Amino acid sequence: MLIFTVIGLSMAGIPVENLLGLTCEELEELTVAHHQPRYRGRQLYRAIYARRQTDFAALTDLDKSFRQRLSTNYRVQYPSIERRFESRDGAVRYLLALEDDQTVEAVSMPEEDRTTLCLSSQAGCAVDCHFCFTALLGLKRNLTAGEIVGQVLAILADRQLPAQSRLNIVFMGMGEPLLNFASVMKSVKLLSDSGGMAIPWRRIALSTVGIVPGIKKLASEAKRPKLAISLNASTEEQRTALMPVNRKYPLRDLLAACRVYPLRPGERLTFEYVMIDGFNDSPEDARRVAKLLGGLRAKVNLIPYNPGPEMPYHSPLPKRVLAFQKVLTERQLPAFIRVSRGQDVRAACGQLSLAGLDVQNHPAPTT
Ligand code: SAH
Repeated sequence: MLIFTVIGLSMAGIPVENLLGLTCEELEELTVAHHQPRYRGRQLYRAIYARRQTDFAALTDLDKSFRQRLSTNYRVQYPSIERRFESRDGAVRYLLALEDDQTVEAVSMPEEDRTTLCLSSQAGCAVDCHFCFTALLGLKRNLTAGEIVGQVLAILADRQLPAQSRLNIVFMGMGEPLLNFASVMKSVKLLSDSGGMAIPWRRIALSTVGIVPGIKKLASEAKRPKLAISLNASTEEQRTALMPVNRKYPLRDLLAACRVYPLRPGERLTFEYVMIDGFNDSPEDARRVAKLLGGLRAKVNLIPYNPGPEMPYHSPLPKRVLAFQKVLTERQLPAFIRVSRGQDVRAACGQLSLAGLDVQNHPAPTT
C-alpha cells in the first residue's frame, strides 16, 4: 500500500497514472494488483467509459477504502480544452492540450439526429501533403489510445451530450491513423465496446492517405472501422505533385490493395477527393477518377478545398464541383459533395494549431 502511494504520486502530489485508455482486462488486472476482486475492474471500466465519471469519490458502488486508494494513486483525466471556436453552422472546433502540452484538434459537428466527432490520431503529421495545414507542423508524436478516446470524452463533457448520444466518429483530424496503427485500433476497440462507450463499428471511419501496408493490416483485423482513402488526384503524376507519399505507395498499388479489401455486406470504400481550383477539378479528372475506381464498391466524397493564407490553393467554382459530381454519377459512381463545415473558425485540418506559427508557404504544385 505504502509502495503504491509513494510511486503513484508526482512531486506536486498529483497521482501520476491516468487510467484513460486502459481496457477492461487491464483495469481488472489493476484491481487484482490492489487485492480487489476482478469484477471491481469491470465496475471501474463501466464508470470511466459508460458513465463517463472522472471522480473516484463518486463511484459509490466501490468500497470506500478502494476508492481512496484509487484517488491516491490514479486519475482519469481528459485532454484539456485550450481553445474552443463555435462556428455559425453549429460546428465546434477544439484545440486540446495533452499532458506534455502538445496540442491536437478535434471537431464536433451536430447533425439532425446525431453528432459527428472528428478526431486526431497524431500530434502533427509526418506525411507531407502539399495542400494540408497539418503537414506544415511536421510530426510531433503519436497519440495514445487514451488521448484518442479522451478527445471524445472531453467533447461530450463540454457539449453536455448525454451518455446515449448517437455519434459518428471519423479519424480525419490531425495525423495519419495508419501510421499509429496500434493505438488507433486500441482506441477503436474502446470506443466500440458495448460494455463501455458503445459506438457501433459501422459508425467509426478511418481516413488514410493510402498507406498500403496499413490497409493490408487493417484488412486482416476481425473488427475494423470503415475505410476512407484520400484519393485527391486522377493520375499518378498529379497525385505525386500533391501528395509525395504517392512515390512510396503509388495509385496502382493503392487501388490493387483496395480491390482485395474485404468489405462487409452493403459496405463501400469511401474515396475522398479534395477539389482544388484549376488543379484537379476538370471533367477530364472526373472521367479518369471514374475509370480508376471502376469495378470497386466505392463512393466518392468531393471536398471543396478549404483555403488558408499559408497555402497557394483555392476552392473550385461551385459549378465545377457540380459538373465533376455529374460525371461520376453518370458513370454509376455515387458521389457526394461535402461542404466544409466550420469555415469561419478555420476548420480545415491543422489550421488551429498553425494559427500564430510562422510557417513557410508550400509552392504551388505543377504537373
Ligand atoms: N491523414 C489522413 C486523415 C487526415 S486528413 C488522410 O489523409 O486521409 C482528412 C481529410 O481532409 C483528407 O481527405 C484530406 O485530403 C482532407 N484535407 C486536408 N486538408 C484539407 C483542406 N485544407 N481542405 C479540404 N480538405 C482537406
